[in-house]
Amino acid sequence: MSSKTPIYEGKAKKLFEGPEPGTLIQHFKDDATAFNNKKKGTINGKGIINNKISEFLFTRLNDMGIPTHFIRGLNMREQLVRAVEIIPLEIIVRNYAAGSFAERFGAFEGEALGSPLMEFCLKDDRLGDPFIAEDHIYAFGVAVPEEIDEIRHYALRINDFLSGLFYGHGIRLIDLKLEFGRFYDEEGMLIVLADEISPDTCRLWDINTNDKMDKDRFRRDLGKTEEAYREVARRLGVLPNINVVEKPKLQEVKAKAKPAAAKTSAKPAAKKAAPKKTPPKKK
Ligand code: C5P
Repeated sequence: MSSKTPIYEGKAKKLFEGPEPGTLIQHFKDDATAFNNKKKGTINGKGIINNKISEFLFTRLNDMGIPTHFIRGLNMREQLVRAVEIIPLEIIVRNYAAGSFAERFGAFEGEALGSPLMEFCLKDDRLGDPFIAEDHIYAFGVAVPEEIDEIRHYALRINDFLSGLFYGHGIRLIDLKLEFGRFYDEEGMLIVLADEISPDTCRLWDINTNDKMDKDRFRRDLGKTEEAYREVARRLGVLPNINVVEKPKLQEVKAKAKPAAAKTSAKPAAKKAAPKKTPPKKK
């Protein structure tokens, strides 16, 4: 693990050099920050959950023809991604008023917005990621109009698709933040979705209870943050029960040990197998 070459460390993720040129390993940490780094903490297991949720969602988006940086999952905390030039913009799409929008416009949280509303923020921690108008984006040379058109188009499709996907799992997509990058190859440049999509970067409310299932639990000290993240993963079916993961390993060990120690390995395996029959009931 330590042999990997670090490229960049952000607030919630680290990037390492990938195994092939033009690739990176995106590693998800348990660290959590809010309010432009003023609040810091740890959400146990968040890295694993966000990695798996993001892997699941990016795979679906790739399948529906949205170009993304995601190549494949590597392990519980890491995924292989294409190296892209990140466009320093946070694209926020809102379906319901919440967070900074509700504050700015005096709307009540949960108020439906007629149609999805898009906002751009400049990705700059020193400045606190300020809102940025399209004119500023062009004047500062952050992106060109054709790129913003494409980003708008993808962001709305992504929001539409994810709203439906989450709804199918009893979750309302209140808003989300997306990041895009430029991917260069022999054929030219392609705008691709980058970064992650997870309860860190979306507001997700339970459809029946309006319970928050996202980073607002950490931001607002609501408690049960790990549980909420885990519940999102459980509903999406992306976080297999640890016992389910361990079972095949045990079988592999047994299979390998068969010729030499068939009798001795059978006993502990049989003993251990008994309590493991109960966990599936939890699901
Ligand atoms: O705070 P605000 O209401 O502007 O956030 C809108 C959405 O963007 C929320 O889903 C929030 O989690 C996400 N966001 C983010 N990273 C930021 C700022 C906001 O993922 N730096």
